[in-house]
Amino acid sequence: MDEYPLEPGRDEMHRLVDAVRDRVVDFVCALPDAPATGVRPPPTRPAGAALEPGKPSGSAGTPSGPAGAPDPAALIDRALAAPPEHGGDLAELLDLVEAATGYAFETAGPGYFAYIPGGGLFASAVADLYTRVTNRYVGMSNPAPALAALEHGVVRWLGEVCGLGEGRGGLLTSGGSMANFSALVAARHVGLGEHIADGTLYLTRYAHQSMAKAARLAGLPASAVRVVPHDDQLRMRVAAAAEMIAADRAAGRRPFLLVGSAGTTDTGTVDPLPALGELAARERLWLHVDAAYGGPFRLTERGRARLAGTELADSVTLDPHKTLFLPFGSGALVVRDPAALRAAHEVGTYVLQDLDPHDAPDYAHLSPELSRDVRGVRLWLPLHLHGVAAFRDALDEKLDLAEMAYRTLCEEPALELPWRPELSIVAFRMRDDASSRRLLDTVNASGRVFVSSTTVDGRCTLRLCIVSHRSHADRVGEACEIIASAARRIAAD
Ligand SMILES: *Cc1c(COP(=O)(O)O)cnc(C)c1O
Repeated sequence: MDEYPLEPGRDEMHRLVDAVRDRVVDFVCALPDAPATGVRPPPTRPAGAALEPGKPSGSAGTPSGPAGAPDPAALIDRALAAPPEHGGDLAELLDLVEAATGYAFETAGPGYFAYIPGGGLFASAVADLYTRVTNRYVGMSNPAPALAALEHGVVRWLGEVCGLGEGRGGLLTSGGSMANFSALVAARHVGLGEHIADGTLYLTRYAHQSMAKAARLAGLPASAVRVVPHDDQLRMRVAAAAEMIAADRAAGRRPFLLVGSAGTTDTGTVDPLPALGELAARERLWLHVDAAYGGPFRLTERGRARLAGTELADSVTLDPHKTLFLPFGSGALVVRDPAALRAAHEVGTYVLQDLDPHDAPDYAHLSPELSRDVRGVRLWLPLHLHGVAAFRDALDEKLDLAEMAYRTLCEEPALELPWRPELSIVAFRMRDDASSRRLLDTVNASGRVFVSSTTVDGRCTLRLCIVSHRSHADRVGEACEIIASAARRIAAD
């Protein structure tokens, strides 16, 4: 028995890392042939049941585990077990983690086109292993100034991609929701000060739900969130927004925030950002652009054209765990004026009094978090290791694939494709919701593709969301064949 079992020796550390190394490499190598849906948990609601507002939509899954997979109920029981008094066997424990990982949506595979895929760049995961073992503290910049600078550098680079000016700053967050939250808090602080009850913000029905959640968490009543009508392309009607703002002012309300989507989660729709920028400037509103999904496409020429106007924002949310292919847990908020973000979040504390400010920001003053993981390296390492061109090319490929899928699916008369993809989400449906739901289940039963549905203008709409760095022309072509032939069969029934 080791005297200090919590501190493994050199050989034991090698054994631990090697055990995980072999398993993750095997995992990635097996992805092309793995069932595209993964092993999906049984439905938690009956198929077709009405959704409550704010609940995510999606098809009801069925357990479809490979023969020999552990019984799901037994697996969950083992997962819930309390830790033992004395330690167990590493291989057995990793077997359980592996079984739990297998009983899941196959979010990392090339056939995952549901929701918004999360591939997980290998180099980023390796960076995490490094930063977690070395465990530096980056809540403030003073304890690890160069690591904080490394985060600051990638954040400033993201801000440059968005076209924000020289003074830009921000931070890496755990995801887009936290970034949207801090953006809203900053906008509220600048626009409303302490008296927030009359404040109003403006977005469309297709803005991400995290904005309404942020408003609630920031203490605003539900009535503060004004839903602006959209046009037939699902874009915000800017003239309608202007009218609503004027009417609210006339009624004594205080408009403070305009939210534009740079790629909605449902359909990848881009709001008319240049016009929103003008409106925000005229009305002295904070402009927040939610580019959680779409932002990184600005690395490409087409993306820059389609996302023009992002540069007018006061704040922009990006999700490197979506369109920069990082593992989940990687969001970003970039702002034009970091002082506004800081003013909204900072409260004094004596326990940090020894820490002189350094050149990089004190992240604890820019968000709700104090202690946080070292986030910069997980983005910095892949960018510097692979180079920006590798990311630009991968994103260009996704735009090509979406265009190809759109054209291919348009040729199938049983399918409706109401919107040409602006980015990499291809939306399609059949003549009625029942047929669309059947299509969803049939396509997902193929084991080669996993798509999900949403509700657009009241109709069940399927979406092929092409984001994984592992999805290429072969799999997207296969997906289109599977979708078109299933639609043809359902329409003929
Ligand atoms: C995914 C998404 C979010 C929320 O981001 P999380 O990282 O899931 O918290 C916000 N806005 C848009 C447009 C998104 O696509």
